[in-house]
Amino acid sequence: MKASAASAECVIVGGGVSGLYAARLLTKLGIDWCLLEGRKTAGGRILSPAAPQATASHRSVRRGGFDLGPSWYWPEYQSDLARLVEHLRLEAFPQFELGDMVVERAAAGSPSRLPGYRSVPQSWRLAGGMGALVEGLRGGLDAERIHFGQVVRRLEIHAGQILLIARDERGETTLWQGNKVLLALPPRLAAQSLVFEPALAEPLLSDWSAVPTWMAPQAKYLAVYEKPFWREQGLSGEARSALGPLQEIHDASLPDGPAALFGFLGMSARDRRRWPESDLLDACREHLGRLFGAPAAAPLAQFYKDWAMDPLTATATDADTIADHVPAPSAAPDVGPWAGRIQGIASEWAKEYPGYIAGALESATVGVRSISRS
Ligand SMILES: Cc1cc2nc3c(=O)[nH]c(=O)nc-3n(C[C@H](O)[C@H](O)[C@H](O)COP(=O)(O)OP(=O)(O)OC[C@H]3O[C@@H](n4cnc5c(N)ncnc54)[C@H](O)[C@@H]3O)c2cc1C
Repeated sequence: MKASAASAECVIVGGGVSGLYAARLLTKLGIDWCLLEGRKTAGGRILSPAAPQATASHRSVRRGGFDLGPSWYWPEYQSDLARLVEHLRLEAFPQFELGDMVVERAAAGSPSRLPGYRSVPQSWRLAGGMGALVEGLRGGLDAERIHFGQVVRRLEIHAGQILLIARDERGETTLWQGNKVLLALPPRLAAQSLVFEPALAEPLLSDWSAVPTWMAPQAKYLAVYEKPFWREQGLSGEARSALGPLQEIHDASLPDGPAALFGFLGMSARDRRRWPESDLLDACREHLGRLFGAPAAAPLAQFYKDWAMDPLTATATDADTIADHVPAPSAAPDVGPWAGRIQGIASEWAKEYPGYIAGALESATVGVRSISRS
């Protein structure tokens, strides 16, 4: 085991939006922090890979931005997130929804074309994808305090300090130390993947474990095209299918090209596991062809992300259940050795917007306020 690599007043576990936003708030308050992130990159459930080479003629190619995690936010009512987007000078644009939608109800007959509808309130996207928000948040942080590839396994209290034991991909263990810990990973993942010594009180652990990690059972397929050819036919790019493999499809084009369609898979995580990924991709591609015509079956590039298979997002419990947003559990123990020492700040701990990006900002704000007062 490596000796303690660093100690900080506050150790943040997780480098998604909640962890990065907490780091930003701690920096403003002058509180010493370090952040341990299990993946090699920041963002957590936000994943916005770059456009492929084949579309290099487009200006936006440099910025990347096809969202395989979250795509939307709702500035009309998520005002803190809207202010942050403005403050970071990110470019936002409304989800493209003009035109008819395609609906596929039964195997017999071709899909029908129906009048589309506008979402209310309007869903907005970011140029460069939601990854632009992650980059914006990271830009204001001291990079030396962020440690990637550190999967925290255990938290122990020794001589009044919290020791965090993390492992990297080579299996090497590193010891980190702090006075307070912000858990910026989903409550279910914290309860099921971290060991607390002394143990956390059982009712709290069960409450955390019972909270579904929002969207963890989902998988997204995204196909990239030179042009949004469906728009020329008066279609919005939106579709619903009862047959699958895709269930709900939307236009995912970047503001100044390239074009794209994305769909959520309608199969359960358990069923997806039975398919080789290449077969799934072929089935999704063919499905888009069925819904939007032959050009849709010939994308320039395809992306696929199954969140249920990602151990730094989902647990086996998430893969089995599709659940809606649930009320947030208590974010911290009231009594016992961990009281006042740890606090959950991932999105699922938010009271107003649990599970959403806006919720990640909300619970990070509450968590930082609470540790800065104690
Ligand atoms: C497919 C999909 C679509 C979505 N659509 C939307 C949308 O349109 N709008 C919206 O508002 N929200 C949406 N969401 C939800 C949104 O992505 C989340 O609310 C938000 O990203 C949560 O951020 P977070 O920081 O709380 O958690 P996460 O992003 O889950 O971050 C947790 C971080 O902790 C790290 N971690 C986990 N375990 C450990 C460990 N043991 N040690 C160290 N690090 C660890 C992870 O690697 C990760 O980086 C969607 C999510 C998905 C998956």
